[in-house]
Amino acid sequence: MADRILIKGGIVLTQDDTLGELPNADVLIDGDTIAEVGRDQSVADAKVIDAAGDIVIPGFIDTHRHTWETSIRTCAPDYPLITYFGNILDKFAPHYRPEDVYAATLWGALEDINAGITGLVDWAHIINTPDHADAGIQALREAGIRSVYAYGFGNTSLQDWWFGPDYTGSVLTTNGDDARRVRQQYFSSDDGRVTMGLATRGTGFCKPDVVRYEWELAKELGVNITVHVGMDRFGYTKGQITALRDLDLLYPNTTYVHASHFTDEEWGLVRDSGGNVSFAPQIEVQMGHGWAPAVTALQYDIPIGLSSDVCTTSSADQFTQMHAIFGSERGRKHQEAWEADLDGLEASPGLITSRQVLRWATLGGAEVAGIADRTGSITPGKKADIVIIDGSAVNIAPIIDPVGAVVCAADISNVKHVLVGGEILKQDFRLLASLGEPRKRVEASRDYLLEAFGAPEQGWLTAMGAGSASAAG
Ligand SMILES: [Zn+2]
Repeated sequence: MADRILIKGGIVLTQDDTLGELPNADVLIDGDTIAEVGRDQSVADAKVIDAAGDIVIPGFIDTHRHTWETSIRTCAPDYPLITYFGNILDKFAPHYRPEDVYAATLWGALEDINAGITGLVDWAHIINTPDHADAGIQALREAGIRSVYAYGFGNTSLQDWWFGPDYTGSVLTTNGDDARRVRQQYFSSDDGRVTMGLATRGTGFCKPDVVRYEWELAKELGVNITVHVGMDRFGYTKGQITALRDLDLLYPNTTYVHASHFTDEEWGLVRDSGGNVSFAPQIEVQMGHGWAPAVTALQYDIPIGLSSDVCTTSSADQFTQMHAIFGSERGRKHQEAWEADLDGLEASPGLITSRQVLRWATLGGAEVAGIADRTGSITPGKKADIVIIDGSAVNIAPIIDPVGAVVCAADISNVKHVLVGGEILKQDFRLLASLGEPRKRVEASRDYLLEAFGAPEQGWLTAMGAGSASAAG
């Protein structure tokens, strides 16, 4: 890593409220930190990245991804949520070995960097043994992505998964002692590139004593909680937040993933307790969780981040998430206007904007992940987690509104350079990490898992989808 890097002459969308959008600016990086942002920076000893005509943004943040599923990417494009539970979690996950977690997490993290994602909440509910946790953390560290390792629970049988025999699993599978070990062994400081969170099941999925155990564990460890709520009809969706309130477990900085079906009272409780939301809009509309109700979250002034959730069923990049929420949340409002017999203009005050969408994919995500003090915007003093988008590409030029270019036109192929903590991880459209060995590992993992699952010879599972749904019941 050069000591100093100068990103010169780009269109800089800082996401910093003070600095704003700069049509022709330089970003000076000193070591791992953004030193200056502005016109005509000149540093004799800096490595220069010419960004003239390109768009410079803070790296994207994925606020909830089950990265361990990368071994079985797109095995289930047509699954609704219930079939996903029945097959991916109940049938695939118990077969996972530590080496599968390592291979999938490394490959997924490299995929993220390639797509301009510099920050990831790895929602790791695959801690079947302590070795599984070690493998996931090792992979994140090797990939070099900034990440929150959200330590989860085991996934070894129907009995200890979300859906226990009585649908309110009472078996305690989160291994508190191992979570304490991981905290001490890997995360004794909260300043590293990889930090720790706790991924919990929560009310509606577990009996109250189990919920209380997991929440108190998070408090003891001093880490934030991330929990799935309000998705389709799972987890008694209409009462998960009020149930947490009744248990006195509404902690600040908790991430409520999906939040598709909240009552007004629950939105208020999330706001008043300092919680935030992670929407996975592509998955939510595709698999049946519900809408990604960003307009409602905005009304309650609740921080919003975007996430990819499961690559078994969708793409894991943030361009996809931006397109999905921009389309679905405006579509929802347009439909309301249609039903109220209003025309498009009359409906427009309730429509989300491209600038809001870009913010959620960057700074909003950092707020949700609990790392906005160090990333999410191009602000002097923050870590240099920066992405440069090719402004000359055939699907980008000519640029008029650069935010429109990123949110509406860009895709992974336009991600030209990626830096994490001032370290260049992708340069001139090419990942600097070698991909040969990681790809071999993830393909071997795929082969093993498909065989263990008992997949049909051709490998893909789509045709099995609906017929396997009863396994979740
Ligand atoms: Zn999820």
